[in-house]
Amino acid sequence: MKNIKDYNLDELQEELINLGEKKFRAEQIFKWLYVEKVKSFDDMTNLSLELREKLKQNYTMCNYNIIKKQESSDGTKKYLFDVLDGNAIETVLMQYHHGKTVCVSSQIGCKMGCKFCASTGVKFIRSLTAGEIVEQILAVEQDINDRISNIVFMGIGEPLDNYDNVIKAIKILNNQKGLSIGTRHISVSTSGIVPRIYDLANENIQCTLSISLHATTDEKRSSMMPINNRYNIQELMKACKDYIKITNKRISFEYALAKDNNDNLDDAKQLVKLLKGMLCHVNLIPINKIENGKFSKSTNENILKFRDFLNENGIVATIRRELGSDIDAACGQLRRKNLKE
Ligand code: SAH
Repeated sequence: MKNIKDYNLDELQEELINLGEKKFRAEQIFKWLYVEKVKSFDDMTNLSLELREKLKQNYTMCNYNIIKKQESSDGTKKYLFDVLDGNAIETVLMQYHHGKTVCVSSQIGCKMGCKFCASTGVKFIRSLTAGEIVEQILAVEQDINDRISNIVFMGIGEPLDNYDNVIKAIKILNNQKGLSIGTRHISVSTSGIVPRIYDLANENIQCTLSISLHATTDEKRSSMMPINNRYNIQELMKACKDYIKITNKRISFEYALAKDNNDNLDDAKQLVKLLKGMLCHVNLIPINKIENGKFSKSTNENILKFRDFLNENGIVATIRRELGSDIDAACGQLRRKNLKE
């Protein structure tokens, strides 16, 4: 059956017309889904019983069940959702003073194989549909009975390897007749799929682009991120510069600091060289050690030195606050989970 949340408003109008209904019904349904946030077609009380029946026969609502929920001492919550086909995915809620952020997964598993990430080493199953991405936000909102203000595509999966569905999900989330989450409050993070960075630049949506850089030489980056063998640093940086030119938007570079690997002052110097003059910001992430992983966290001293060096040399850098590490919900700690696990 088709998932009613896989459609943006204009597509839902097409669907309704194909069902022999009037176009305006689509807007009513869209409001029930994303403004009233009902969980059943029966609750759509301004639709005739006949139409509600028709909808039930043709579409699912894709309501996720929470299989497991863990709560960190810092308020971070990690959800394991049943995606209704025997698979499960993890989604994280982070609470900041400026609002509530959901870290969504875009795929069940990941093909990128980054050596420091827990999503690596578990089999890739499939990409999520737009509706399955959107439902993560709705399910979290329902659980906490509050609104989500920010979304980051930093859970499991490579968002630009599921490009069409991610873009559609952003458009559904942003639709002013629905959840109306501003695109400026949505971030997409990529390991660096260069052609899709160009596509995103030309999409004319205002979301923030984050690039997982993590190293400044091809040798080191390739040893951490196999995608670098496909698109090297030079190609990636060219795409980033073009992206900035086209969109006039600042890029956020993520740099996970691993002890004795990429955290000394020479690395910082190289990073300054690479980013000098670019409209950008660096997000330093103390690397989270994963099971059997060979990378471990830099010392606090090195992390601060690295940040200060960047700032002193004209590159704005901040250290990402670590949230949820006590429940394995911090950066790179999410894994695809089977229902049986
Ligand atoms: N595939 C996308 C988004 C998922 S990961 C990407 O690669 O950007 C979100 C961020 O967490 C990325 O910057 C990723 O490199 C980083 N990350 C992964 N594992 C990590 C770990 N163990 N410690 C710190 N950051 C990690």
